[in-house]
Amino acid sequence: MLESASGKGLYHMKEDLSSVCGKEGENLALTKTSFMRGIQCPKMLWLDKHKPGLQAIPPEVQARLEAGNEFGDRAMGMFGPYEEMTVYLPGKKIPDKKAMLAKTKDALARGVEVICEAAFCSYNNYCAVDILRKTATGHDFYEVKNASEVHEQFIRDAGFQYFIITRSGLKIDRIFIVTHGPEESNPFVPVEITKEAKGYYTWVNEHIWNLNRIQKQAEEIEIAPGEQCSSPYDCWYKDYCLGIRQAEQIRMEGV
Ligand code: SF4
Repeated sequence: MLESASGKGLYHMKEDLSSVCGKEGENLALTKTSFMRGIQCPKMLWLDKHKPGLQAIPPEVQARLEAGNEFGDRAMGMFGPYEEMTVYLPGKKIPDKKAMLAKTKDALARGVEVICEAAFCSYNNYCAVDILRKTATGHDFYEVKNASEVHEQFIRDAGFQYFIITRSGLKIDRIFIVTHGPEESNPFVPVEITKEAKGYYTWVNEHIWNLNRIQKQAEEIEIAPGEQCSSPYDCWYKDYCLGIRQAEQIRMEGV
């Protein structure tokens, strides 16, 4: 058990992270992104793991992702001084999740007031939250979205994070989405979604174990293209899945 440096006992780890997450030689399982992609389409999750080279990311989507990252970086300072937990693998722009978990654990033990990119893990499922802010009774967390309003998928994202953080032993008080407001000098507008995000706890638990199993299975999962290919996000495997379907149709018609 780990206790905060403040002595108030706000942070009690149920289990030592090093014993349940990211053991040597073991990959972390689902992240927030992979969970949400698996919810949209289990085949998308499987392809991400086994055939990621088939992705065709449109340039406008890439540009939107980069703009979102930039907005997120600017938001880190919205509450003043902070410590950032991001660590990259040597020579790459890929987060070193195991190092981030260890760094977060240390920051929480020291009672740091504002932690950015705080990383958590439960049974090898992982998430990082944009801003974690200490309160008198626990912590609040803020997810930053480069959007003018809160969409349901943002609340589901936060529900996944709440599930992982709570299971790792940290008490969460309130949850916010930081939207992009109209004032460019101070565009960060927090919208509280505590009740809605916490309401997704059971839903996450109902899906996370099955998605873990699907991600690990060796055989490619067969799912026909449909509405899920464009909602809530455009899928980057359309060329592959639709191409296969068209080839099958041509074969059928040729019989
Ligand atoms: S294109 Fe459609 S069926 Fe194929 S992985 Fe994407 S969402 Fe799933």
